[in-house]
Amino acid sequence: MTLYLQTSHLEAIRRHGEQTYPRECCGLMLGTFKGDDKTVHELWRVDNSWDGELEVKESIGADAQGSERRFLISPQDYLEGQKYARQKNLDIIGNYHSHPDHPARPSPFDLDTATFSGYSHIIVAIEQGASKDLTCWLFNEDRAFEPEALETLA
Ligand SMILES: [Zn+2]
Repeated sequence: MTLYLQTSHLEAIRRHGEQTYPRECCGLMLGTFKGDDKTVHELWRVDNSWDGELEVKESIGADAQGSERRFLISPQDYLEGQKYARQKNLDIIGNYHSHPDHPARPSPFDLDTATFSGYSHIIVAIEQGASKDLTCWLFNEDRAFEPEALETLA
């Protein structure tokens, strides 16, 4: 299971996270599935629609099951991304987001809001406004995150 993407995609994810710091950035990865591997063709930036509370909730890993359940990427954003992807003959193959001043590991919030098994989740840590660790995780059929290999194509 490997996620293939261009160096420019990684750079764009890092820049996005630096631009929105100290808030999180997020976006969808559009591309193609081939067996267990995926290839990113385009990134779809999502503008955060929630307020600053989310950052606090995520860093402390608070329960997100309550009536105020929030989504890092809203169902509506997914639909818009899906529509755009279809026009380009691509699928949504995963998403990315940043962890401002927080390690590049899935948080309890990420686990709680992950939906589709087979999706790749890229997380970039932004420390004091500068991008640092960038990691990739597969949300597997046991509804758990496992490390996924990243290969750059150029
Ligand atoms: Zn997260």
